[in-house]
Amino acid sequence: MPKNVCKCGKPAAIFRKYEGSYLCKTHFLQSIERKVKKNMRVHGLVKPEDRIGVGLSGGKDSIVCLYLMHKILSPRRDVKIVAISLDEGIKGYRTDSLTYARGLCKKLGIEHHVYSFKEEFGKTLDQKVKELSKSKNDLEISCTLCGVARRYMLNKYSRKLRLTKLCTGHNLDDESQAALMNYIRGDLYRASRMGPEPVVHDKKFIGRIKPLRFIPEKEVALYAILAGIRYHNEECPHRCGLRLEVRDFVNSLEQNHSGMKFTILETFDRLLPCLRDIAQKEESDVRYCRKCGEPSAREVCKTCELWRS
Ligand code: SF4
Repeated sequence: MPKNVCKCGKPAAIFRKYEGSYLCKTHFLQSIERKVKKNMRVHGLVKPEDRIGVGLSGGKDSIVCLYLMHKILSPRRDVKIVAISLDEGIKGYRTDSLTYARGLCKKLGIEHHVYSFKEEFGKTLDQKVKELSKSKNDLEISCTLCGVARRYMLNKYSRKLRLTKLCTGHNLDDESQAALMNYIRGDLYRASRMGPEPVVHDKKFIGRIKPLRFIPEKEVALYAILAGIRYHNEECPHRCGLRLEVRDFVNSLEQNHSGMKFTILETFDRLLPCLRDIAQKEESDVRYCRKCGEPSAREVCKTCELWRS
């Protein structure tokens, strides 16, 4: 087989080092769609009568995720898809990305709901970070504040919209990094909630599905470009901390040992049953936050502690 040529004889759009194959545009797009369908089928991600909310930021992962879910599921009459976006209030960033989110929903005819931190908590993320950075010298505070509030709002509004599942665009890079980060931080409880199938601990908790979990980040971006889908291509100005260090570490491993990201995630999945056993013994049962009534392992949930105190 000559170099840089797909098995069909057309010029390659990508060389997948981890499987030693060249793929042309058509075969690459088909291969991504096949992988996503397989993940959905093998792990039973979608069931009849599901109402699925796709978390949509406007970045490549969520845009491709919504596009593929629509492409795969729109022929089914027994499944409904809606999109949910959060406006954290990040100046010069989120306003732009929401333009792409709105554009795709309009094009595909998908119902789109947008909720803002400002309306929910009375403050934008920018304002809250500014307020806290006066008293705390913690570079990771913005992502902690944001992540906690995002999880809270996505769960709360998914329930209000009567969704049965929340779908996110997490890709192979995100998931392999998250597996290592939870390990490094010793956060077995959070690690135990990762995995291919939705984990539902409580009736108020909406299970998550991640159809792109085994698609490398670069391939998600290439899919968007080759399929002609527009997405917001800027990094959040608050992005910092451990996640970036872990990302660089995993990327350098992958560079020298092709396929390492898959190995990290597949090994993590094999360990999940043990992690869940340990986490169950260590953690108290899910309760409800005294202030907001949302599911929480503590008396007052992290969101209320950080955002409503
Ligand atoms: Fe939020 Fe951090 Fe992501 Fe920015 S990088 S959107 S602050 S979690």
